This record gives sequence, structure tokens and C-alpha cells, in this order.
Amino acid sequence: MSDSSPNDRAADAARGFGTRAVHAGQQPDPATGAVMTPIYQTSTYAQEAPGDHKGHEYSRVSNPTRTALEGNLADLEGAEHGIAFSSGVAGIDATVKSLRPGDHIVATDDLYGGTYRLLREVFDPLNIETSFVDMSDPDAVTAAFTDATTLLWVETPTNPLMRLVDIEALSERAHDHDMTVAVDNTFATPYLQQPLSLGADLVLHSATKYLGGHSDLILGAVCTDSDEWAEKLRFQVKSTGASPGPMDCFLTLRGTKTLHLRMEQHCSNARRLAQMLNAHETVGHVRYPGLPSHPGHALAQKQMSGYGGMISFELADDDMDKALTILDEVDVFTLAESLGGVESLIEHPASMTHASIPAEERQKIGLTDSLIRLSVGVESFDDLRDDLDHALAQV
Ligand SMILES: *Cc1c(COP(=O)(O)O)cnc(C)c1O
Repeated sequence: MSDSSPNDRAADAARGFGTRAVHAGQQPDPATGAVMTPIYQTSTYAQEAPGDHKGHEYSRVSNPTRTALEGNLADLEGAEHGIAFSSGVAGIDATVKSLRPGDHIVATDDLYGGTYRLLREVFDPLNIETSFVDMSDPDAVTAAFTDATTLLWVETPTNPLMRLVDIEALSERAHDHDMTVAVDNTFATPYLQQPLSLGADLVLHSATKYLGGHSDLILGAVCTDSDEWAEKLRFQVKSTGASPGPMDCFLTLRGTKTLHLRMEQHCSNARRLAQMLNAHETVGHVRYPGLPSHPGHALAQKQMSGYGGMISFELADDDMDKALTILDEVDVFTLAESLGGVESLIEHPASMTHASIPAEERQKIGLTDSLIRLSVGVESFDDLRDDLDHALAQV
């Protein structure tokens, strides 16, 4: 049995990922022995005398189910602290709100559409401005640094173009300028990529995706070794109410127990589908880091332990109508936004997840009209293959 509060994590760190996924942060409920961490559906906690309590006062600030989840996520990222949020975007918001007006951010140009919207439409007007750069070129990143840059925001693999960004190289450059380095690790998960061990300061998760894994919750988290950042982020949760509810914390905790099993299947299905698409005459460029032809393949081998479940591809003729036909013809794949669940999803970034990025910007970064993004689930491979094969034959 594991008893892994963040404080005795050292003893736990030697254990394998699967053991930590199942046990870290949790212990049988002290009141009842319940093996699963209960859903503490309460807003407040009885105190013996003013200020004399058992560690929790009010659930906006902390809640036992959330505390267990935070211990689990911190452990999986190899971090000292985990802070859970009501959504991934709330975690990004809290991070950026911890900056000051006048601070400048350098972020990946090809990133989650909601992150782009938040930085552009919420923080730009508050005088925290962001430069978006293609981070597959480290020199382009350094060139974007100004004296005011305090945060480097990295997403890798990028969304939806599946570019690889060298976390270690960029962390080094950013630290030379005293910046904080944050990595959105949603696509890779801690099972495939450990940004803190590569030099990053903060790891952001949309646990809505692979960590939860079943498309049944919205939750975010930031993991860090920095006491100062942990304090700032907890202050934000407390002050702005970005707190996740106990039910969502419970579901995420249930999801992480099988993260390692699911990721193996996501990776294996995606790799085989990418090979099949790559050989298909109707298909143009296939973007999957596991393909040797991918420009980031060598980097993926270095900084990841698997290539993940996300694929994007263009059609041989870049025609939006043909892309929409494919979305219409699939049956096992579900047409939907989001990713990382056990079920396979298909979507069209230009009109769905990345519609908030202006058309001109989309063209500039190579997000073309026929680009299709797959979140490959854990179904039987043959059914996924046949489904795509059938849909591609219709165009
Ligand atoms: C979904 C997602 C987010 C935002 O997370 P929410 O939980 O939806 O708020 C951030 N980054 C990436 C890469 C995502 O896929």
C-alpha cells in the first residue's frame, strides 16, 4: 500500500509509473477504511475551536478529494507540488495572472485554441502581451525575447500540427534570461514526457483529456517544484475561485490509475494508423512524431518515451469539402472536439477547435483547410483502420 503525501514522495519515487499511478497521493480513508478516496461533497468543515481544524476550512481553498488528486498528479510529474483547477484553461489563467502588467510572454505559435484566445483577448488588453513563435526553431524563440519577457509558454507536441519543441534546449535559453518555463503537457501526459526533468518550471495539464481519459469531466492542474510558484497558484485558486469540485477530482483520480495502460494502447493504435494513412494515396502530409519522416522524430525519441495518440493529416488535394466528407463518412470515429478519451474522435481544426485563430494566422502556420485531427482511442485497431479506409474511399 502506498501512502504518498507530497512529503514522503522520496520513498515512492523509486516505484514504477504504474504503481504510482494507482497509489500515489492516496491512502484508505482514515475514518472508514474505504479503499477509494471518497468524494468529500462538502463546502465546509467543523472546527473544534476557531482555527483548530483537521487541515481543511472551506472547499474553495482545499478539499480532501482534491488534495489526494493533487498528490497523485504531482507524483506522476515528479513534482513537489500539484495544484488542481476547475479546467485546464483556469490553470493557464492563474499562471498568467501571477505575472504583472508590462510582462511579456513568448508562446508556441501552434497551440491550443483556447490558450491563444485567453492570451490574445483577455491578457493583451490587460497589458500582458504575447509573441507567438514557431518553437521548432530555438533561434526564433530567442529572437522573440525582450527585456520584459518573464514567461515562456511551450506546447509539445503542438496542436494541431504535431510539431516537436525541444524543452531542454529552450529551458536553458529561457533560464539564462531568468524566465519561467511552462510546458503544456496535455498531449504527451507524464507517462510519455516529463518536462520538469527536462528543465521546465511548470507543467500544465488539461486533465479533461488523457488524465481523466473518459471524456466525462473538465479539470486542470499545474505541477511544479517551486514553492514560490505553488504558493502563487494556490493564492489564485483561493482568490479567484478556480477550484475543481470533488466529483471531478474523484473522476480524474480514477482516470490516472489506468493512464499507463491506456497510453500504451493509444500509442500503438495511433502509430499503426499513421503508417496506414502515410501509405494512402488520398492522403497528403501525415503529421505523427512516430513516423521516421516527421521532422521532430529524433527529438521525440530523445524527450518522449512514446509518440502519443494524436495524429493530424492533410488530403492530397487540400480541399475543405473533401475533408468534411470524411468527417461525415466515419462511423467508429466520433465527430467532436476534445481528445484523450478512450473513444476515437475526429475533427476539423480550421472550423472547430482552431476557429478562434484568424484565417490569415492559420495559413501562416500551415493549418490548412483540409487538415483533419484524430484523437486515436483504445478501440480494436482493425475497426479504426477499416473505418478510415472506408471514409477515405468516398472522396
Ligand atoms: C483542452 C486543452 C486545454 C484546455 O483545457 P480545458 O480543460 O478544456 O480548460 C489546454 N491545452 C491543451 C493542449 C488542451 O488540449
